[in-house]
Parts: sequence; structure tokens; C-alpha cells
Amino acid sequence: MTAATACCMPVARPRQSWRPVGARSCLVFMALAASCHGTAGDVSTDARGDAPEAAGLDQSGSADTDQAIPPPDRVLHFEVGSLQTAATTGLSPPATFALPPGARATFVTLMGPPGVYLALSRWQSGGGPLLIVPGWVSGTHAPLLCTQGCAFRQSPRPEQQVSLAPNAPLPVQLAGTHEIVVQAFSWTGKDPAKPVAAKVAVAVDAVYGDPLPSGRLAVNLCLTGAGGLTAALAPKHERIAQAVATLRETFAAIAVDVTVTYMDVPGAHFVVHDASDLQVAELFRTAKGAPSGINVFLIQELSFEDGAKSLPMMGLSGGVPGPLGPAGGAQAGVVVALKLEVGQPDRLGVAIAHEIGHFLGLYHASDAAAADGTQLHDQLTDTPESDAANLMHWSPQPHSTKLSAQQAAVIKQSPWVAPP
Ligand SMILES: [Zn+2]
Repeated sequence: MTAATACCMPVARPRQSWRPVGARSCLVFMALAASCHGTAGDVSTDARGDAPEAAGLDQSGSADTDQAIPPPDRVLHFEVGSLQTAATTGLSPPATFALPPGARATFVTLMGPPGVYLALSRWQSGGGPLLIVPGWVSGTHAPLLCTQGCAFRQSPRPEQQVSLAPNAPLPVQLAGTHEIVVQAFSWTGKDPAKPVAAKVAVAVDAVYGDPLPSGRLAVNLCLTGAGGLTAALAPKHERIAQAVATLRETFAAIAVDVTVTYMDVPGAHFVVHDASDLQVAELFRTAKGAPSGINVFLIQELSFEDGAKSLPMMGLSGGVPGPLGPAGGAQAGVVVALKLEVGQPDRLGVAIAHEIGHFLGLYHASDAAAADGTQLHDQLTDTPESDAANLMHWSPQPHSTKLSAQQAAVIKQSPWVAPP
């Protein structure tokens, strides 16, 4: 496919990573990943050293969880408390929480002020090896994604950010005491990122029980008025009906039954140019009060402004994974553009499924090759490289609906997927 019609937001909200031009964005991406790795360790010292000047630490939730018993409803949720990051480093003091044995996956959710990028600077689980290595968010380079030094990928997000372990079939010790350090920074899309003093709320969702053989997934199709579509008209609209059928068939193949609720979103954007965080956050906030489900916003057009160029985008997700919390959050949803790409087949259904895949924790099976030929692949071992049949190919086509067993496992461990 042509560069201008490439896939969604691949890894992170910073502008470089949104750029739908595969080769160029991937080059930036790889370079920054390497730089993050190269600076590992520097910030670790700062994190500890800044603890005395940080304020507002409240770890009341963590102590309570030492004796917590996994509830029968599969997900153990608790608040760790609020952490205050330091203005000089953007780092919080270390905070701890404990998980009872048996956790299969752990989601750590950060909530901060609007526009402030958040990430875990450090994560150690159960006294084992570091899941996230200090220093990967460099002060001299804008961070996009932690691929080296992080056992499981994570990417910074403004206001709401989620880290998930595991999101790949790698061994991880989740029982016991976890220690985390939060990092907050501002970024305008140009280096360097600047540390920010921010109060950041931390919550944990741990998934227990056997892997689900099958499940249910609720999706809210949020109609913004784009295309003349409303909640009343959309179910009978031929293109929407076909897209929903594709979505349902894609997930039915891994025994996940998708139910779709149609809803009108008042005051939403029809077109998002320069897909900035603030614009998209504003869009996502319009679904506040929506029933539980992944909110899929159908808008007319989505583009990334690169200087004088406007590059069409198929869609983007509010995170990999997206937040588990209620609708209305700054990252609580995915966006998919209705505008048909010139010379391209209609990919609306696969685009919706693809963005939901991101929201549930899947990275691209393969990203586009960089100019030097290097290519980034996910950490899953059963996704063939550059497989255009895979849903999470960086540029999915109408036939790109395949999900591997490991991709299915990541999807089914999400709390968004309920038992049948
Ligand atoms: Zn994508």
C-alpha cells in the first residue's frame, strides 16, 4: 500500500510515531528505542535521589493488598494511590503494591493532568528481574516506545497510560511485591521531553483464573455525525453493516463474541486534522457516560500534519493497551476514519478490528521496514514476519483478519473480554 494510506497510530502518541509513513517513522522509532536503551541506568539514581523532594505519596492501597484474595470475578482491582513527580526529573518516589499468587496478567494504569505524558520509568515484579528498566525515557530524546530494556513494551501517553505485563509469552513473576517509579513529562513533538511535576494516580488490575476459552466483547460504535450516520441509521447502513460483520467475524474466529451498541456522540469532531493528543482526547471525552465497552469513534477524516503535508490515517488507538476505566477518559477509545482512500478497497471493518486489537494490548506483528531495511516485529513468537494476512500487520488490508494463538491469548486476558 502507499505510504499515505498506512495504518493507524502504531505505538505511541508522540507525533513521530503517529506518522503513517512506514519507513520514515520506523527509522525515528528505532533510533529512539536504541537511545533509550543506551541511557538506561542514569535516571535510576535520580529516581531514588529525588524521593525526599517529592510529595503526596499515598500508598495506602498497596498495604491492603498484601492479604488480598483474588475475587471470583476474575479481576482484582485496587488503587495504589497518588504519586507526586519531581519538577527536576519528572520522577516519582518508588511505590509498591503486592499481588497474591495466581495472577496471569497485570495492568498498571496511570492518570495525570491533561497534556502531561506518563510512563513507568521502572517496574520490578515480585523481586524478580526488572520488567521496565530505569532510564528508558530519556531526557534528551522524545520517548516513543520501550523495546529494549523493557521485558514488555510500553509507550508513554498523555493523561492516561497503561502498562501491561505480560503482553507476550515471556515468563514473568507477578506474585509478591511490585515496585514502580512513575515518570511525567511534557512534549510538544520536538526534543527534548521536559520533566513535569505532576500528581499521578496509580491503579492496578490483575487478572486471575484460567485463560478464557471464549468470551464476550462489548463495543460502542460512537457516531459523530460523520457520513450522515446516526445511531438510528447506522445499523441499516450497508457499509457499516459490512464493517460490523467483518469485526464480528474476525473476533469470532478466536471465540470472542462481539456485541455492538450504536450511540450518538454529541458535539464530537467530524474531522481530526493534525491528530494531536488534545483533539483526540476531546473526542474521547464526549463518550462520557457510555455503557461499558470499547468506544469506537467513527469520524470523517483523520490525518497527521507533517509540515505542509497532510497524511491520511486509517485510525488510532488510545493506547496499547487502552485504559480499562470508564468512557470519557483522555485515551478511552479508538478512532477510525470513514473517508475512503483513493485507489484502496474499503477497509473500515478491518480498521475497526485492528484498532481494537491495539486497545486490547496487541502491537503490530510487523512494522514497516525502515529506510535501512531494519524492521520491528512484535514479541510474539507465532506471528509470521510481514504477514499481510494478520490483523495487526502495520498496513492491514480487507483480508487481514487473521489472529495467531498468542495474539488471541493477549486479547482474551484483557478485562474487556468477559466470560461467555
Ligand atoms: Zn496499527
